[in-house]
Amino acid sequence: MTEGSCLCGTVRFRLEGPFQSMLHCHCSRCRKHHGSAFATFVGAPAAGFQWLAGKHHIATWTAANGSARHFCPTCGSVVPAANDAGELRFVPAGNLLDDCAARPELHIFAASKAPWYDITDAVPQVAGPPPDYPDPNMPTESRPSALNTIGGSCLCDAVRFEVDGDPLVMVNCHCSRCRRGRSAAHASNLFVATDQFRWTRGQQHVKVFDLPGAERFGTNFCDICGSDVPRHSPKIGRVNIPGGCLDSDPGIRPGYHIFVGSKAPWYEITDALPQFETTAQ
Ligand SMILES: [Zn+2]
Ligand SMILES: [Zn+2]
Ligand SMILES: [Zn+2]
Repeated sequence: MTEGSCLCGTVRFRLEGPFQSMLHCHCSRCRKHHGSAFATFVGAPAAGFQWLAGKHHIATWTAANGSARHFCPTCGSVVPAANDAGELRFVPAGNLLDDCAARPELHIFAASKAPWYDITDAVPQVAGPPPDYPDPNMPTESRPSALNTIGGSCLCDAVRFEVDGDPLVMVNCHCSRCRRGRSAAHASNLFVATDQFRWTRGQQHVKVFDLPGAERFGTNFCDICGSDVPRHSPKIGRVNIPGGCLDSDPGIRPGYHIFVGSKAPWYEITDALPQFETTAQ
């Protein structure tokens, strides 16, 4: 038995297991909605699923093709659907507070993976949807940015931004706040200087959530679709761009892993990048 929660704790649920079919999804829609390199979902019998809080608080954004995305409207975390239909409940593994004992079985939509992310583990891959799944008809939208700029947008495309010049650094963070905030295995954060960054559309839709009790941790997300979007940190003069919302190749690649001491028990780091228990030295 394990519990799941969004970053702010408004939406909470309990699952009994047994857990099954843990999948990493690299489709562009999951990457955008989570703001991460990929999303991870795990299934459990619906009979053992129970809402603890916030079911009626959950916000939903529905794409033109009918596919629905669910999120906490307070903190922007991706959460399960409020609809309790079906025999299996699939939940974002990044929500889980404990080890569910399941381990990843398949990478799906591997052909749509982020250009800045390499799959280095031995988990099997399929280019598109899982074999027993109806094709969800998910074309990758092209959202080109101006020449010589790095651009990005949220899933619903209400919010867009651009970056001039080369980013400073890209970092994979495994801390529990990033995992909960992205509802994913880890965050991949691209940092740029404040004066390199500009919103080009929909800044009024950027909702800022500051985590109570944290010095500066929080999330910014689109108030329409719930996608993670860039967050300005005035104290350090940088903007943190969630890798998943990028529409173009930033050129730079993740340089190292931080907070591996708090990484998800179901996620194994298999690349050769340097790892730090907490912050980088
Ligand atoms: Zn929340
Ligand atoms: Zn997906
Ligand atoms: Zn949006």
